[in-house]
Amino acid sequence: MMSLRLPSIDGVLRHPACAPLLERHGRESLLAGLRQLLDELRPSVLNGQLSAVEISPEVLAGRVGERLAQQQRSNVRRVFNLTGTVLHTNLGRALLPEEAIVAVQMAARYPLNLEFDLASGKRGDRDDLIEGLIRELTGAEAVTVVNNNAAAVLLTLNSLGARKEGIISRGELIEIGGAFRIPDIMARAGVRLHEVGTTNRTHARDYEAAISPRSGLIMRVHASNYSVEGFTARVPTAELAELAHRHGLPLLEDLGSGSLLDLTRWGLPAEPTVRQALLDGADIVTFSGDKLLGGPQAGLIVGRKELIAKIKKNPLKRALRVDKLTLAALEAVLGLYRNPDRLAERLPSLRLLTRPQADIFAQASRLQPALAEVLGSLWQVSAVEALGMIGSGSQPVARLPSAALCMRPQVSKRLRGRCLLNLEAALRALPIPVLGRIDDDALWLDLRQLDDEPAWLGQLPHLQVEP
Ligand SMILES: *Cc1c(COP(=O)(O)O)cnc(C)c1O
Repeated sequence: MMSLRLPSIDGVLRHPACAPLLERHGRESLLAGLRQLLDELRPSVLNGQLSAVEISPEVLAGRVGERLAQQQRSNVRRVFNLTGTVLHTNLGRALLPEEAIVAVQMAARYPLNLEFDLASGKRGDRDDLIEGLIRELTGAEAVTVVNNNAAAVLLTLNSLGARKEGIISRGELIEIGGAFRIPDIMARAGVRLHEVGTTNRTHARDYEAAISPRSGLIMRVHASNYSVEGFTARVPTAELAELAHRHGLPLLEDLGSGSLLDLTRWGLPAEPTVRQALLDGADIVTFSGDKLLGGPQAGLIVGRKELIAKIKKNPLKRALRVDKLTLAALEAVLGLYRNPDRLAERLPSLRLLTRPQADIFAQASRLQPALAEVLGSLWQVSAVEALGMIGSGSQPVARLPSAALCMRPQVSKRLRGRCLLNLEAALRALPIPVLGRIDDDALWLDLRQLDDEPAWLGQLPHLQVEP
């Protein structure tokens, strides 16, 4: 056989096929890419395994171009969240409304009055940008905002309870995930944990018996990601607040998700509202910006003026503060809450959470034929009813009636697991990765969050499932 020779790097570089690559990626990247590709091909060329066409400058340029495009692709990528969990922590939680996106763009593009009071011309405080709205929406006296609710809890505990005891029910010593455990956070905040009651039942007399001159605060944590059922007892917030105040202690309530409005109005499970917790007498309430609130990642601390002032003076506040993009988005999202009647159309998280099952089912039925066609006879594809979740520790037991595309491999039981994993990987490898969930020998795509149907359908032909 006649032996072929690889073209020289210079030869490929000068070829017209490389001109657009040179323009897009620059000489250095292109050279490095070419050199690597030629090194990889050399052994196969020497063995006579490649044809002349396969090492032509056009083909080589094409291959290098693909690689460089791959390398340039951003690591932060859009995905389709069809897992059935709406506020999915690993997938970025709440989607921002258009108003917030516009506000973020403005804040990114121009200088702004982040800490500058335009009325007086003096230095301002970034919390002032949203304080008015939060006070209006929650009835709180004062507000401060930090990076997330975990930071809000840490900062509050450290500001109000350092070197003292924090009294908390055993049933509320929860782990939220990502190594956020209340006992550990207390320890890091310098608060000595004084646990009272039992896992399932804690009474007012348990709190009362724990109070001593060493006490610094009473804490209540919304058991967001699990539920205790059966023989249980917990002290209502109003009663606990009365008890705390009788002994001169502040009551902190970590609401976790919390909500600014009563969600039952939209047929969703009841979630405690911030306003109610304050009305019941909690002195400080903390909650997340990107859970049920539907905004950017942030931790909101609201409550009594003198306590908020103390929290704001803590040097940790500076370490945990929010940036301008977050504040811009948060203000825009809070603004939407002033008109609750239109909130479900304007706030994406609420719109998705309240999407009717019939609507989702109709979508699943509409898309079923296209998916069945692409997957072929190995798969049974059906539009079915399904149950989703709110996510992010809101209402762990509640299920959202939804609908899904359900894909079952028509193979022996022994091969099913492998088949499902292959399909899952193929969906993940699409230009916009599609994320579903495997359950009951099937792969489910819950369509509650499928807004962009054309984009989803458009990439189906790229689906390549290994047999
Ligand atoms: C989610 C949650 C947190 C942590 O909030 P992040 O905003 O994720 O930091 C803290 N406490 C409770 C009860 C939660 O549910």
